[in-house]
Formats: sequence, structure tokens, C-alpha cells
Amino acid sequence: MFRGMLIEKDEQGYRAAVKDIDESALPEGDVTVNVQYSTLNYKDGLAITGKGPVVRQFPMVPGIDLVGVVAQSDSNKFVVGDTVLLNGFGVGEVHCGGLAQKARLKSDWLIKLPKAFSARQTMAIGTAGYTAMLCVIALEKNGVTPDKGEILVTGANGGVGSFAIAILAKLGYQVVASTGRADQVDYLKGLGAKEVIDRQLLSEPGRPLAKERWAGAVDSVGSHTLANICASIKYGGTVAACGLAQGMDLPATVMPFILRGVTLAGIDSVMRPISDREEAWQRLGEIFANPSEQAMFDNISTEINLNGVIQAAEELMAGKIRGRIVVDVNG
Ligand code: NDP
Repeated sequence: MFRGMLIEKDEQGYRAAVKDIDESALPEGDVTVNVQYSTLNYKDGLAITGKGPVVRQFPMVPGIDLVGVVAQSDSNKFVVGDTVLLNGFGVGEVHCGGLAQKARLKSDWLIKLPKAFSARQTMAIGTAGYTAMLCVIALEKNGVTPDKGEILVTGANGGVGSFAIAILAKLGYQVVASTGRADQVDYLKGLGAKEVIDRQLLSEPGRPLAKERWAGAVDSVGSHTLANICASIKYGGTVAACGLAQGMDLPATVMPFILRGVTLAGIDSVMRPISDREEAWQRLGEIFANPSEQAMFDNISTEINLNGVIQAAEELMAGKIRGRIVVDVNG
């Protein structure tokens, strides 16, 4: 038996609770992992509170991220004792995930612990930080270099937003953070934002084209915010769009794309090929190479144990969590 968060759905309704789970309930996989840490991402919040249709099989252990030590392996890629990392691949949605002391997984989904980080640090980064890195790589690949001008980051206090600001600032970009929490200006400037704007400036219906301001943007918000960002991207700029915290709609026009050559780069972290994951984690390791830079992770993340997960998920959905939540599944 091991402890884990279990989501069930039956005639008694949709519910999540910490339970003792029998090892025989673990799904198929060629690697069994003793999980050390997991995290809470927006998607985990939707799954645990039942606010979004994330879980597609029941019962389900949520948790789209995990890090842990291989306890048993039928794969030639990993041996017992290896520390491995997993982000996404449907784990916590269609395959039992990281918010438990044990997980059985497919070796094709795993990467080795990046050399630059401890197990806990990889979860302070988690899917949110790895996605922020994918967004920044997309800007780079589209020619958005630091000399091109300001980069807007929306959902700034969230996990993706916090890491996007920190990564961009370390790479020398001028970052403007958009947030609904004016009381967090010091935190956002501490991460490297040079200016903080009120998210309401972006969240209402806007014009097809607005004054050109941003060389690029990392958007985790969607809806009118993303439409307004596209309308104010400078000629030839790029928006990396990864989220839907405001909504999944996109009430935009084609004008920014056909008149200003704007690129809308869609970012998916879940099914991303292993080579891209390794590149993103390698870059994160280079950007946050020094212990002094890694100290920032303590500022971005808060640690809880399994018993605190339900309350934290509710707070995350209410927009009250700043940065990242790390879950010590053995704590
Ligand atoms: P968080 O909950 O940590 O952050 C979301 C942030 O969005 C909040 O902190 C808040 O920032 C802002 N926000 C919340 N509600 C609204 C609203 N109604 N209008 C405008 N802004 C709002 O989530 P994550 O950072 O983990 O994820 C952010 C988004 O990215 C989610 O939609 C998630 O599903 C998506 N995502 C997608 C991935 C992919 O592979 N494409 C991977 C990871 C995440 P503030 O208080 O500063 O305004």
C-alpha cells in the first residue's frame, strides 16, 4: 500500500481525497518510481476541484509532474536507483500521476534528472517552468531577440508567468508583467520585471489593431487578453500562447497576422517530444546555473504535503496562489 490523492467519480459524485492505495491498482508501465515530489499546476487544480474535464478515467491519481527514484525497471533506458522526471504525457489525466508515493510509468515518458537541479528544484520549476522555457525558445526561434524591445508576460503571478519573467530577465530581455494583483509588484520586480501593468488593460474586448508596443509576448491567459496582445505586437513579432486562465476563446481578427506579419506560436508541453524536453531542461539548467540564481526558486515556490493539496487546489483556482506549489508526497 502507498498513500496518494485519489479522484473518484460515481453515483456519489466527483470527489478527491488522500487514501491508502494498493500497489495492484497501479496502471501498466515498464518503470515503477518511488515518487519524491510532485507539484500543483493549473491543470491539477482543475482536476482536483472538478472545475474542468481534465480527468478522463476513474479512479485517477492526479499530478501531471513528478520526480522520483526508479524502484523497478523493465526498460533498458533506466536502472533501479536512477532519479527520473516526468512532465505531462497524459499522466494525471488518463494514467495515474505524481500526487502519490508510487507511480508506474512508461519509460518513453521519462527523462533523467537534469544535472543542474536537485529533485525538489525540478518540481519548483515543474510543467509551468518547463512550459515557460518552451515559450521563450519559441520567441527565440522566431527571431525575437532582446534588442527587439519589450516582452509582455501575462498571468504574471502564476507558475508559467513567474518563470517566464525570470527566464526572460536572465536572458537580458526587458519584461513587462501583466497581473491582477497590484500588491505583488515587488515580487514581480524581484523576478526581473522592469514594469508591471494591470491585467484589466488587456482583458476587455479591444480593437483589431492597436498601437504597436510588444516585440513578443508569453501568454497564459487566452481570450480577449490574447486578442489584445496580438493587436499590439510590433511588426514581425511573436506571441507564444500556452494558456487559458481567462478563457479558451480567442475573439481576434486576422489583421495583426496579415498586416503586421505577427506570429502566433502555439505551445503544448504535454505531448512534446523527448528531444524538445531535454533541450528545454538543458536551457533551464544553463540559465539557472548558479546556486544564487536557484535561490529564486524558494521565492517562487511553496512546499506542502499531500494533506494540503485539496485546499491549495481550491486556492489556485481562486487565483490566490503565487508562483508554484511543490508537494512532498512523503511529508
Ligand atoms: P496559475 O494558476 O499558477 O497561474 C494563472 C495566472 O493567470 C494567475 O496567477 C493569474 O495571474 C492569471 N489569471 C487567473 N485568472 C485570470 C483571469 N480571469 N484573467 C486574466 N488573468 C487571470 O497557472 P499556471 O501558470 O500553472 O498555468 C497558466 C495557464 O497555462 C493555464 O491556463 C494552464 O492550463 C496553461 N498551461 C498550459 C500548458 C501547455 O502545455 N500549453 C502547460 C502549463 C500551463 P495574476 O494574478 O498575476 O493576474
